[in-house]
Amino acid sequence: MKRHPVYVIAGSVAAVISLSLAAIGVSQAEVFLDAYTKAQPVIDKAVSAYGGPEKIGAIDTFHVLEKTKIQQRYQSRRLGPPFDVVEGSTDIAFDRTSGNFRASFGGPFPTMQIVRGEDSQQIDLTRMVSTPAGAPIDQNTHFINRIVPALLANKLYQRAQNVTWAGQSRIDDRLNDVLSIAWDTGQVYMVHVDSVTGLIRRYDILANDFVAGDTIAESYFDEYETVDGIPTPMHRWQRIGGQRTYDAYVQQISFNGDVASQFDIPDGVVAVDAAPPAASDLRELAAGVWIGNGGYQNLYVDMGDYLLSVDAGGGTATVKGDLAQLESLTGGKPLRYSVITHHHSDHTAGADALAAAGTTFITTADSRDYLTGIIRSRPTAGANATTVEPVTPKFQTVKDRDTVESATRRVEIYRVPNAHAEDYFIVYLPAEKLIFGADVFNFPANGPVGPANENFQTFWDNFSKLGLEVETVANAHGRLGTGEELRDRAGSRMASR
Ligand SMILES: [Zn+2]
Repeated sequence: MKRHPVYVIAGSVAAVISLSLAAIGVSQAEVFLDAYTKAQPVIDKAVSAYGGPEKIGAIDTFHVLEKTKIQQRYQSRRLGPPFDVVEGSTDIAFDRTSGNFRASFGGPFPTMQIVRGEDSQQIDLTRMVSTPAGAPIDQNTHFINRIVPALLANKLYQRAQNVTWAGQSRIDDRLNDVLSIAWDTGQVYMVHVDSVTGLIRRYDILANDFVAGDTIAESYFDEYETVDGIPTPMHRWQRIGGQRTYDAYVQQISFNGDVASQFDIPDGVVAVDAAPPAASDLRELAAGVWIGNGGYQNLYVDMGDYLLSVDAGGGTATVKGDLAQLESLTGGKPLRYSVITHHHSDHTAGADALAAAGTTFITTADSRDYLTGIIRSRPTAGANATTVEPVTPKFQTVKDRDTVESATRRVEIYRVPNAHAEDYFIVYLPAEKLIFGADVFNFPANGPVGPANENFQTFWDNFSKLGLEVETVANAHGRLGTGEELRDRAGSRMASR
């Protein structure tokens, strides 16, 4: 282990000296050097706690089974806490030499990801199909390093030049030294190392959180036991923006075992092509009706003198791109009304761009408050960062239904509560016999349609009562469907008007 001279000047004193030196044109390098120098013995303590550099450098394979509790922070039925809790399981295997990786997630929507060399497959265990998922080997290595603190300690050791001492923290009345490490992804982690035992208790990353704005994601390692000679937490948990989001309880764990058989695709899984790559061009579904392309497809309707939009998926940039295209497609008609199918993050992330365009959101009083919150607290960095000036959004509140009608078009808006979301809306264009919704009745781009699960059934119970005549089914995700496909899925006939 490397040893470095320890500077005796306290950080704050060094800062004062550096500031006064800066005033006369001398660099503040001393502050950095002091923080770097203080970090090194803490790294040594952590590495020793996990068995030393040889021991942690020799962890080649890893296999863990956990029970999990996930708080559905952005995907709950209700708008705010308490969030729905989904109980599930994870089964993760990793081979560092080959880079092979598998993560199985059990629960209501079981999935599996398998990476073998350059081949990466995302498997839907309900539909029993696998789709190519790129080759995110580095991402998986980063993931493993984050859930195994011995590997996190190894990371501190390997990247010691990118580690500085950032202060001290208290967790459950125990003192910790906090190390700041610039990860090889460029992201900065704050790692809390127990000042007495050297064990890693927690790490933090900046979460450019969609709802809370700029905040911290805290990951805790608790209930350490020694496994194969390596101190290992039996309980991991996370908190984002102060709210508990995730708990994982280890059922079984091993290091350096034979994991070769863990990377096989399960029997019965059929390979299908990935969804076509996202294009940014809007598609015209009917005269003056456009839908976006890619993973988050918003709907736009030309009302004659103005536009109406449905959903704000894909984030600020996607919605701004859609609006720019509509500018030329419609000769600059203004956006006057917007409907959001439901509050989940993948349908609201670009609501700030709609608000900035001056729209009036048509929604319930509850969703009004939620949307106002996210539009005004967007993060300043990361994928969710806003690129528009924050404005106070305008609203027209509805309870169960509303109609927007112009000389040329009628748009009907219905609240259809279901197990996926309570405040859930569909939009119906009676002239085109077209409905647009999200999530509960997706038609996947490729492969079979999923079963009529609870989300679909509860939706269908309320939707079928409306008696709408439907020919075209558009959704924020997946391909277009027909009314017949929708009725087939329900296994019942839709009442005609
Ligand atoms: Zn959703």
